[in-house]
Amino acid sequence: MDLKPQEISALIKERIKHYEDRIEADDIGRVITVGDGIALAQGLEKAMSSELVEFEDGTMGMILNLEEESVGIVILGSDRNIKEGQPVKRIRQIAEVKVGDAMLGRVVNALGEPIDGRGPIESDAYRPIERVAPGVMTRKSVNQPLMTGLKVIDSMIPIGKGQRELIIGDRQTGKTAIAIDTIINQRGKDVLCIYVAIGQKASTVAQLVEKLKQHGALDYTTVVVATASESAPMLYIAPYAGCAIGEEWMEQGKHVLIVYDDLSKHAVAYRTMSLLLRRPPGREAFPGDVFYLHSRLLERACKLNDELGGGSITALPIIETQAGDISAYIPTNVISITDGQLFLQTELFNAGIRPAVDSGLSVSRVGSAAQTKAMKAVAKSLKLELAQYAELLSFTQFGSALDAITQKTIDHGARLQAILVQPQYAPLRMSLQVVSLYAVEHGFLDKIEVEQIPDFERALHRSMQADHAGLLDAIEERGMLGNDMEEELQAGIADALSDYLMVGGAR
Ligand code: ATP
Ligand code: MG
Repeated sequence: MDLKPQEISALIKERIKHYEDRIEADDIGRVITVGDGIALAQGLEKAMSSELVEFEDGTMGMILNLEEESVGIVILGSDRNIKEGQPVKRIRQIAEVKVGDAMLGRVVNALGEPIDGRGPIESDAYRPIERVAPGVMTRKSVNQPLMTGLKVIDSMIPIGKGQRELIIGDRQTGKTAIAIDTIINQRGKDVLCIYVAIGQKASTVAQLVEKLKQHGALDYTTVVVATASESAPMLYIAPYAGCAIGEEWMEQGKHVLIVYDDLSKHAVAYRTMSLLLRRPPGREAFPGDVFYLHSRLLERACKLNDELGGGSITALPIIETQAGDISAYIPTNVISITDGQLFLQTELFNAGIRPAVDSGLSVSRVGSAAQTKAMKAVAKSLKLELAQYAELLSFTQFGSALDAITQKTIDHGARLQAILVQPQYAPLRMSLQVVSLYAVEHGFLDKIEVEQIPDFERALHRSMQADHAGLLDAIEERGMLGNDMEEELQAGIADALSDYLMVGGAR
C-alpha cells in the first residue's frame, strides 16, 4: 500500500505537463543546503508558501518557509540525488488532488492516487488541496441532523450537518469505532463519506476498509491514507486533500461527512517538518502556527446557504489524549476550534460501557437545533438523570441504607446506562433509538434485570419491526411523536415486554 518516494514526483509531474512553457528566470533558484528531507534554496524570490517546486533529478518539493534570503522546502520523496548548488524550479502551482464521484469506493494516497489495486481513477477534475474556507455570508446555521446511529450520541450530544464535532479520548477507547459506525449509518441517506487515516498502521487501515466493505459502506466512501511509514509531508497534506475531495461534493449541493483520524499524529508530522526547517519551537516543541494548521482545515467544514446549493461538510476530527489530559496543547487548540466534543473515558470503556462517551463532559453546541422532535421528547432529561445516577452511585459506595427515592433513582440510572450501551457496527435508525429510550424513560425496563436489558432490547426491536413497521416509518418520516403514535408505541413496548417476561425473563 505504500508509495515509493520516486513515484510521488512522477504523479505530481504527470499532472502539470507544459509548466515549462511558463518558466521565467526568477522561477529558478539554487539549493544551498539539503538533508533530512529538507532543502534550503536561494533565488526563488517570487515563490509562495505551499507552492510546488522541482529539483534537477525530478523530485518534487513543497515550499513551507519563506525567509528573506532563502526558502525552506520539504522534499516529497527521497533527497538522495539532490545536491547543493543544483537548480530548483518553481512550477507556479500548489499541490492538487483528483476529485469527483469516481473517488467513491476508492482507497487513495495523500495525492489522491489509488492504492487499492483497482486501476486508475477515471476523473479529470482536480482541486488544490488548500483553499480559503467559505466566508460568513455564504454559510447557514446547522439545521439538519446527521445521525450517528449511536443512542448515546444522537440523544444527548446530537450532531448536525455542517458541524465539527471532536472525538477525543485516550488510546483504545473506541474513537475510531464511533467514526466508522457513523459512516456505516449513512447508508442510503445521501451523505458521502471520507475517512482520512493519518499515521496509522497500513494493516489497521486495511482491516477498516474491509469492515466498510462488509457493511456496504465503501460504495459511498473515499478512504485517504497516509500511513505511519510515509514521510511527514504526506501525513501533513492528507487531511487537506481529503477536505478538497469533500468540497467538490459540497459545492454540488451534496452532504459530506469527513473523519480525520487522527489530528494528533497530523500535528506531530507538522512538528517534525517544522523542527527540520529550524522554525523556533514553542510549547511542547510545536511551532507557533500549529493552531492555524487545524483551524484552517476545520473552518472548511460548514453548511452552505441555499443560494450556493445548501451542501455541507460535517467534520469529525479525532484527537488522542495522554492519560485523559485534555489540557495539553493540541487538545485545547482543537477543542476551541470545534463546535463540541465527545469525550471518551477509559474507565467507562473498561467497565463495558461502550461507546465510552462521558455524557457529563461531552457537548454539542449547535446540533440540538437539528434534533428531531421525537428524539428531543425522549432525550430531554437523560443527561440530568445520568448525572444524578453517577453522583448517587459514588455516594452510596459506603454502603449505607438507602431511602426508597434514592434507590429508585439508582435503579433507573443503571437501566438508562445499560440501554445506552451499543455494540460496534450496529448503528440504529432513529425510530428504533426512540423506541429504546421511550421504554426506559417510561419505566418499562423497571420490570427486568439490568443484565437482561441488551437481550430485551433486541427482542423489543424485533417485535416492533414485525408488528409496528408502519409506526417506525411514521416516526422516521414525521420526526415526531403524535398522541396516537405514542399510544401505539406504548402498546407495542408493553406487548414485547409481556412476551419477554412470559418466556422466562421475569424478575
Ligand atoms: P486507537 O487509539 O488505537 O486508535 P481507538 O480509540 O480508535 O484506538 P478503537 O480502535 O475504535 O479505539 O476501539 C478499540 C477496541 O474496542 C477495538 O477492539 C474495538 O473493536 C473495541 N470497541 C470499540 N467500540 C466498541 C463497542 N461499542 N462495543 C464493543 N467493542 C468496541
Ligand atoms: Mg483509532
